[in-house]
Amino acid sequence: MHACDKVALVTGAASGIGQALAVAYAQAGVAVVGGYLPGAPHDPAATSAKVEAAGGQCLMLPVDVTRAEQVEECASRAVAHFGRLDYAVANAGLLRQAALAEMSDAQWTEMIDVDLGGVMRVFRAAARHMADGGAMVAVSSIAGGVYGWEQHVHYSAAKAGVPGLCRAVAMELAPRGIRCNAVIPGLIETPQSLDPVNSLGPEGLSRAAAGIPLGRVGSAREIALLIRFLTSDDASYVTGQAVVADGGLTVRWPG
Ligand code: NAD
Repeated sequence: MHACDKVALVTGAASGIGQALAVAYAQAGVAVVGGYLPGAPHDPAATSAKVEAAGGQCLMLPVDVTRAEQVEECASRAVAHFGRLDYAVANAGLLRQAALAEMSDAQWTEMIDVDLGGVMRVFRAAARHMADGGAMVAVSSIAGGVYGWEQHVHYSAAKAGVPGLCRAVAMELAPRGIRCNAVIPGLIETPQSLDPVNSLGPEGLSRAAAGIPLGRVGSAREIALLIRFLTSDDASYVTGQAVVADGGLTVRWPG
């Protein structure tokens, strides 16, 4: 066991926003238990190496967020290994393109199970193992969280559900001093958005940047720093909120 001041559980930690968050936590002296999806094309050792280079501690564990026992094991291992669990970040997510008329029930169910059910499983396990006074964050999206995105009804529905789930968790766990918030990222350059089949791809992201008031897409680190802020004591009076980080995209005047 390695005693630490604060310990965070982060799912989807082998890539993108989750990996950037593991590094951001390491830079703030927070130990990380990072979940990675077995079989996904992301090397969890890359996250461990970056965390160690930042002077932090990291335990990477195989966690499919559709598997309750794996999520539960991850939360209990956090306590067994580091002695406590303070923060839980439900970041893992799946993005698929599917036209409504062509969508199978299996496609719908898989998406809801990962992008909404996964959040519930992470928070449920955290509620069982987390110290009072902790904090939780889930990652929604401007797709569903604000906008409608054609060909992505299942993703949008799951992401729209995330802020509602967070509000209810915030109310239920407030008596324990545990806060719960959602972040709503705009267009962020990660493996997910760089996928030209299911998302915008590199060219789509460059085109979209022109319509973003800040003139660019966001980085994984910019979302990671927002999440780190929301779990930190600097956000001690913030709970039940959904915070948009999108370079001004969703408040742009439609003229
Ligand atoms: P990403 O693809 O790099 O990260 C998603 C991670 O989730 C991957 O590591 C993947 O292996 C993991 N994952 C997928 N299914 C899983 C499962 N069943 N169990 C456990 N892990 C699983 O992309 P990202 O952009 O860093 O995504 C992080 C979160 O941000 C996701 O929830 C995504 O929907 C959300 N998001 C991203 C953007 C964007 O523009 N990139 C915008 C809004 C929201």
